[in-house]
Amino acid sequence: MKRFPFAPAEQLAENLWVLDEVGSNIFLIKGEEKVLVIDTSYGLTDLKAAVRELFGDYPMMLVNTHAHYDHNSGNCQFDTAYVGRFDEPGSHHVYDEAGRQHLIAFMGDRLLECPCDEKAWNPGPAENIVPLSDGDVIDIGGLRFTVIETPGHTLGSIALFEPEKRWLFTGDTVLTWEVWGQLPNSTALRIYAQSLDKLASYEDKIDYVFPSHSMEKRPAGYGRYWLPPSILSIYAEGTRAIVEGKLQGRPYTEINPRFTEAEYVHFEVGGMAYDPKRI
Ligand SMILES: [Zn+2]
Ligand SMILES: [Zn+2]
Repeated sequence: MKRFPFAPAEQLAENLWVLDEVGSNIFLIKGEEKVLVIDTSYGLTDLKAAVRELFGDYPMMLVNTHAHYDHNSGNCQFDTAYVGRFDEPGSHHVYDEAGRQHLIAFMGDRLLECPCDEKAWNPGPAENIVPLSDGDVIDIGGLRFTVIETPGHTLGSIALFEPEKRWLFTGDTVLTWEVWGQLPNSTALRIYAQSLDKLASYEDKIDYVFPSHSMEKRPAGYGRYWLPPSILSIYAEGTRAIVEGKLQGRPYTEINPRFTEAEYVHFEVGGMAYDPKRI
């Protein structure tokens, strides 16, 4: 198994690799002209070196699924980052030392798994942030990724759909545990439900859903780095049932004491945490 320098790297398909930084995924996809980098995780990996070793010398293009620190902290390795237009404001954040220490504390034990130098860790934004909109196409030569806006987990969350390969990259929108729809920059749950309906309409156009977090424990028929397309309708139907009052949530403090106002529901696979005052 390759490691960069510690993150296990796995080949998922021809020209598609994933780097796993303590549970946050970075997807590297080689087209004929460029390498597409989807997310930069915590920024613990030298991504240019990783791409060079895996594919050779190619120009790189960085797209973030959304502007959370576990997906964009390595953006400072790039001149330009592309991100969903409504997550652009959150993509400029520069960490001062207090903020960096806060992140280290928040990452807690997960950072201990990483034999990297915590003092050298320097999360930060790309110099240029370019907003993406629904229907934009990212062409890396031979592979063309369509941007699908999926407001929910964050207002500016996006998915990327590659029709020839039948791949869908979904960020934190669907996972095999309860996704966070209760955050201050999450949308109302009914908006999240609309995004899930939109994704579910792609179910027969794809073979694999690639989420931005890896799963050690997972149901049969699920990969560590991929979900079957049926996850999309499980989420769409489950979230719709919460919105319509057909599924009742339980206090999320049962699972996560940090979110005292939130509730959660588990689906057949995965689930949803949400703010009951923002249905
Ligand atoms: Zn997130
Ligand atoms: Zn995340």
